[in-house]
Amino acid sequence: MFINVAFPIASYQEFTYAVPHDVAAQIGIGSRVLAPLGKRKITGIVVSIADSSSFAGDVKPLLALVDQQPILDEHLWELIRWMSRYYLTPIGQTARAALPGNLKADYEPPSRWLVEIAGEKQKIDIYELEKHAPVQAKIIRILESKPGPVPITEFDLIASSPLTVCRILQDKGLARLTRQILYPDVTGFTFAPVYKNIEFSKSQQKIINKLSESVIERKFNPVLLHGVTGSGKTEVYVEIARQVLENDRSVIILLPEITLTPQIAGRFRAIFGDHVALWHSKLTPAARAWTWKGICRGAFKVVIGARSAIFSPLKNLGLIVVDEEQESSFKQESPAPRYQARDVALMRGKIQNAIVLLSSATPSLESYYNQLYNKFSYYYLSERFGSAKYPQVHVVDMVKGWEETGKSDQILSGTLFDKIEDRLEKKEQILLLQNRRGFAPVLRCLDCGNVLMCPDCHMSLAYHSASEDLRCHFCGYTMPQLPQKCAVCESHNFKLQGTGTQKVESVIRESFPKATIARLDVDSAQSGKHIKDVLEQFSRNEIDILLGTKMIAKGLDFENVTLVGIVNADTGLYLPDFRSAEKTFQLIYQASGRSGRRQKPGEVVIQTYSIDDPVIKFASRLDLKSYYNIALSQRRELLYPPFSWMVKIEFTGPDRSRVEKTAEGNRKIMKGSFKGLEILGPAWCYRDKLRGQFRMQMVLKSDKKADPNGARLHCFLHENYVAGEGLRKTASRGVRMNLDIDPASLL
Ligand code: ADP
Ligand code: ZN
Ligand code: ZN
Repeated sequence: MFINVAFPIASYQEFTYAVPHDVAAQIGIGSRVLAPLGKRKITGIVVSIADSSSFAGDVKPLLALVDQQPILDEHLWELIRWMSRYYLTPIGQTARAALPGNLKADYEPPSRWLVEIAGEKQKIDIYELEKHAPVQAKIIRILESKPGPVPITEFDLIASSPLTVCRILQDKGLARLTRQILYPDVTGFTFAPVYKNIEFSKSQQKIINKLSESVIERKFNPVLLHGVTGSGKTEVYVEIARQVLENDRSVIILLPEITLTPQIAGRFRAIFGDHVALWHSKLTPAARAWTWKGICRGAFKVVIGARSAIFSPLKNLGLIVVDEEQESSFKQESPAPRYQARDVALMRGKIQNAIVLLSSATPSLESYYNQLYNKFSYYYLSERFGSAKYPQVHVVDMVKGWEETGKSDQILSGTLFDKIEDRLEKKEQILLLQNRRGFAPVLRCLDCGNVLMCPDCHMSLAYHSASEDLRCHFCGYTMPQLPQKCAVCESHNFKLQGTGTQKVESVIRESFPKATIARLDVDSAQSGKHIKDVLEQFSRNEIDILLGTKMIAKGLDFENVTLVGIVNADTGLYLPDFRSAEKTFQLIYQASGRSGRRQKPGEVVIQTYSIDDPVIKFASRLDLKSYYNIALSQRRELLYPPFSWMVKIEFTGPDRSRVEKTAEGNRKIMKGSFKGLEILGPAWCYRDKLRGQFRMQMVLKSDKKADPNGARLHCFLHENYVAGEGLRKTASRGVRMNLDIDPASLL
């Protein structure tokens, strides 16, 4: 018997090995094996099995089988094959994305020996024992003085081999040894269960009834659950999950950032108890292996996690929920495969006949489009749950404020100031959004205009007041002090420009000295525990004003928040990317949705310098449909997704001219063309240098009208880049080329 094996390397080649007789019965497609590759021994995955070898040379035998049985079942294996084809990534690399690092499927948690007295104490003739075996007697005396079993390591100082001594005691019937398994702490962040009395509204019940039919049918059903913020979407999918479990099938819930959603995880804990496993990046390797094994064994029926939880080896999958499906964290940027977990979820649902429920108050334009063209079942919740009303929104024109006050960098308008004061008096809570961290994003020389940049990235260094240093938000480079003089003109005349969360914090601390204020952003929230603590304090009303970046804009449900202030709604609006307007709209809309979620009415204050921009106009009216229609027609005009298939080909390297040469050379030898194909570039990326790597990109678009399922573009890429390794080989030394299918951004 022979096997073909794929390794986690950047090559499409598969390698053939002979299988020794004694392991042949245990090997299957999806088994991991250790095999020689060149001078190395590495672990690969079995792709196919054959009786004879087509390989002309000498076929080597494999060295060992890593797991006793295949760790990927046929469904997951099919999913990985699809991903490998769709994302044009070698199968070994794709499989690695799906399997947790250093995975041991036969992982056993560590254990230790415990010893205790056996039988009745009085019967032991301790004086007799002391004469012949003083060490044994000593141990017995200690055991007699303790109430329960004792780890044998406590006797390390008494005996050179406590286990041997205890075994002798056990043989004499004086002691009993037991083995205790040390289970890893898999809770990560233990979310307290959140219990609620649920009585569904009519509109919730209608959707649940529809979906219940689908639960019983056991067919692939892609669903977009769209509902305004606070409409009760979460409760709807919790109920569907319950029904799916009742039908003996399992559930995956994908959340964009698990540490920020303790409420949802807590809701699941309350209803499903120990059947829930959490899967996220902060698990220790031991906890990961243990959780994985528990999922394989069927001990867990619900997996809640971030992007990679989509690969959970659950049997009998019945439902996948993708909450806040528009979030960019579902896209893996690096390494390859650069997959979008939402799309992988749809494919997995198709393979396993499951419901795939995408849930959002602000769906991605892609999903919204799919719904318009009847590719998804669509359910809409148009009203907030219970008596909660939609918040009242005030838009403040900061340009006018600037003209009136003469101050160009005002942070709190009079309107926002007054309303904060009012809420503090009423003991209601306030959420302030400023989607930029640090104190000031730019340090500029007032004489020559030069901006201080990161030496490794083409990005300005931001000033951080807490640490009094300058930092690059991309690579983390830190300059410990402000420079003495301008590097260009030697002037000493610097100015900090722009506004980050730290600056907003210092302004509100000054303006409202009696208020309790907390800030959540990447700098303040180093640990998941800190985030959880702040959110808990906020929910106990111990914090008056919570200030933060987009971290605080989504998913949070606090009943006493009646004012949301958006300090600068224009942040991010003008980035040169086809998604930046959509993202800004979603952020404003979501943040506004945190206000007035229960009985007390809510208000939102949006401060902007672009009062006429459609994004600001429609977001402040909370008019999603009108904005999405405009956005879709712009995308259609420019042939952007969802009206085209898009691929980004990125060239990066430390040498600017080599990157340029390679990119241009690559463009020249690209072969073939077809109707509806548009090739842009190569051009320098907007962020043309990151972490010391220069970046150029080529963008390919294929019109869906001519290429409805993307097959033509796919064929083109395959011929140019995969067949015989193609254009990959044209890269000159030190230049890397990456293919990004369905890129999330073109920055
Ligand atoms: P969304 O996910 O749409 O933002 P949630 O599901 O978080 O909305 O619902 C908003 C609030 O209303 C939550 O506190 C939720 O527990 C509550 N809620 C929603 N539906 C019900 C229901 N049927 N019975 C009781 N409370 C509900
Ligand atoms: Zn200068
Ligand atoms: Zn940098």
